Amino acid sequence: MTKNAKKIIHSDNRQFIQHATVQEAVQKRIIPTDHSSIIPGINVNELKHSLDLLKYALDYSEAIVDTVRLPLIILNKDLQVITANRAFYDIFKLTPKETENQSIYQLNDNAWNIPKLKVLLEKILPKNTIFENYEVEIELPSIGCRTMLLNARRTYRQVNNTEAVLLAFEDITDRKQLEMQKDDFIGIVSHELKTPLTSIKAFAQLLERNLIESKNEKGTYYLSKMTDQMERLTQLVSSFVNVYKIQNGKLTLNKKDFKIDELIDSTVEDFQYITKSHKIVCADKSQISIHADYERIKQVLNNLVSNAIKYSPKEKRIIVSSVKDKNNVKIAVQDFGLGIPNEERSKIFDRFFRVKGKREKGIPGLGLGLYISYEIVAQHKGKLWVDSEEGKGSTFYFTLPIK
Ligand code: ADP
Repeated sequence: MTKNAKKIIHSDNRQFIQHATVQEAVQKRIIPTDHSSIIPGINVNELKHSLDLLKYALDYSEAIVDTVRLPLIILNKDLQVITANRAFYDIFKLTPKETENQSIYQLNDNAWNIPKLKVLLEKILPKNTIFENYEVEIELPSIGCRTMLLNARRTYRQVNNTEAVLLAFEDITDRKQLEMQKDDFIGIVSHELKTPLTSIKAFAQLLERNLIESKNEKGTYYLSKMTDQMERLTQLVSSFVNVYKIQNGKLTLNKKDFKIDELIDSTVEDFQYITKSHKIVCADKSQISIHADYERIKQVLNNLVSNAIKYSPKEKRIIVSSVKDKNNVKIAVQDFGLGIPNEERSKIFDRFFRVKGKREKGIPGLGLGLYISYEIVAQHKGKLWVDSEEGKGSTFYFTLPIK
């Protein structure tokens, strides 16, 4: 064999030599010297070049598949393993002998014989479907209980150009456990903080009455500062409790009928009472009644208005409106402040996300308000989104279905 040729042994034990170049194949008399005589009208040099490119592309993709740390297998139309990559053998503690030509359902002592997985896999080739991020918890004799994300799609085998299924596995057990621990921690801490806060607030009210009665102005002033900070702490704890509930599917809705404009008016009034720096105006009014959780929707509007104030340090005007939009009512909160950079716009609804940079410095926040608001609106089968231009301002919209 010349130094560029490679011996290929297939799973069905067929062996042949793969040649690095057409030239080499000619030397070995696999292709006649006079190529043009076998394929009239075709430029042989171009053909040579294409074959070389094809070979390099194949080598390249083989190298990627074998280096990638994600386990991958290729299944034939009967869902038997044709081939697997190194990561597959390493992670599932299997050998090629235990894997190749076996049905996927037989691997790891039949651990993959899962009815839902069967349904998904068995329609990929006949119906040309794919599946993405199918999460499965599985007990594997060799490595124990794992949580896996599976992705599968149709592919073509180089040999005979037959159809096959590419199945990729991602072990997310550690990530899931960490998330659960984090959520448990948030839940416990927020619950433990809530109880003492409630009693501090009650004593602060008694103290305030006492200080007013004894005309202690300095004491009353200090106490009002303490109460402001206590209010912030209460808001933070309540955000953590909400995140915990969302993560655990425990955010329940207590729906009733109400007019959306009444909720908007009362929110604007509350904010205008405590905020002297901004002018909040109600523009269009839809006069629509909805069936929703009043407190939760108020929480969404509170978040949007308080953000509009926080992120408009120089511009004073904020406009809140509601309009009918097909079968929904659409509520908008518009400010003329900092705006949001284009590249960050899609991330602001993520948990703990804050736009980074000088502008956010000194503006308090945890990056939870929009995440919570988004989930609340989604639970009402509505949508929350933003239109924004950096330096010019933002308009946050959310829709709620009309009952
Ligand atoms: P927080 O305000 O506590 O940081 P949010 O989840 O409410 O968290 O908002 C996430 C991020 O989105 C903010 O940190 C800010 O960068 C950006 N943002 C939200 N509302 C506005 C707004 N009205 N104008 C400009 N940026 C905003």
